Amino acid sequence: MKIRKENDMLIVPDKVTIPFIEGDGVGAEIMPVCQAVVDAAVAKTCGGRKQIEWTELLAGEKALQATGSSLPEATMTGFGEYLVGIKGPLGTPIGGGMRSLNVAMRQELDLYVCLRPVRWFRGVASPVKEPHKVDMVVFRENTEDIYAGIEWEVGTPEADRFRRFLMEEMKVGKIRFPDTSAFGVKPVSIEGTERLVRAAIDYAIAHNRTNVTIVHKGNIMKFTEGGFRKWAYELAEREYADALQSGQLVMQDVIADAFLQNSLLTPEKYSVIATLNLNGDYISDQLAAIVGGIGIAPGANINYASGHAVFEATHGTAPNIAGTNQANPSSLILSAVMMLEYIGWNEAVPAIITAMETAFESGRATADLARFMTNGQALGTKEFGELLINLINNN
Ligand code: NAD
Repeated sequence: MKIRKENDMLIVPDKVTIPFIEGDGVGAEIMPVCQAVVDAAVAKTCGGRKQIEWTELLAGEKALQATGSSLPEATMTGFGEYLVGIKGPLGTPIGGGMRSLNVAMRQELDLYVCLRPVRWFRGVASPVKEPHKVDMVVFRENTEDIYAGIEWEVGTPEADRFRRFLMEEMKVGKIRFPDTSAFGVKPVSIEGTERLVRAAIDYAIAHNRTNVTIVHKGNIMKFTEGGFRKWAYELAEREYADALQSGQLVMQDVIADAFLQNSLLTPEKYSVIATLNLNGDYISDQLAAIVGGIGIAPGANINYASGHAVFEATHGTAPNIAGTNQANPSSLILSAVMMLEYIGWNEAVPAIITAMETAFESGRATADLARFMTNGQALGTKEFGELLINLINNN
């Protein structure tokens, strides 16, 4: 049965259908492990009352072979209809003319938040001394900024026309090498900022996290990134005055380059991060590296207004290890954990997290993590999944 959104609430049936895209490369190895772990946790903690019925939607290589298209229309409409789904990594098709599925879904479903929680698991090797102090949730704006893809290649008539518009009509005199410049545009809007910041603040309040930090480069880009900062504070004062007054919510801001340094030196100062698209890209990956790398960094793209959400492994298809039973399924499993939280099936979450903590603490992990652990014992993808299921069942 499908999830619906009514009166701002997700209505989730006990037997819920969740669409999934297996993904290319290591997707075929990590997706079944992820589903088996989630099923075990739901079965163990929900007393047989709740169940996920996984339904496959095709994309990538598998779709190309079955339908002649790597992005069939049915997949797009499927994610639209079911509201909440999960996907493995998809290879970017080589050669032009093909839209990336990630971008297509982000645009068509207007998934304006890229959500990336970052926490450390005891036992996982980290390049910093005190990784336990890292516990942040990054809200990255997903639809605007210089990242929106509005740009023109050097030497094209479009770039030339844009250059002339800037120089002749707008009287811009700051272009250092006008004749050999490519151009990009950075749209940042009040609406785009407000819906992202609102999502971050709502999350902070719902999870008792208090601190929301706006990360920006408003010192240099005064109207775009400076606007983001200003509109964020204004929104907080307008819509969350009581929470600000009572101390339930504290808003702060920091320049992006300082944040990259501070998040290494004093990560405990940060909890929920609200930032623009490009900053968010760098920040999410730096924070992921601090806690163990892309193999265990989960993520989601969400539209909190419509309810649409796509949970995904943040790594790629890992072609160098595909088919060898070495891939770490943790990123996808933790993305599924985010999905369980999103649909309100919180009772299944601790079972998975505790199993993962127990595995890592005892040095048992896939090779990407085990090789850096003291007492590390590398397990295959399947065997790591079986271990988690055993731990869930016997806890
Ligand atoms: P990648 O993330 O696939 O691999 C980078 C490195 O990390 C490799 O050494 C790989 O073995 C390792 N790695 C990745 N995931 C791992 C896992 N689960 N367990 C253990 N090790 C893992 O990045 P890439 O090689 O730059 O990209 C390969 C393909 O994936 C490209 O086509 C790219 O476009 C695509 N990609 C897709 C997504 C997505 O669908 N969200 C994200 C990134 C890259």
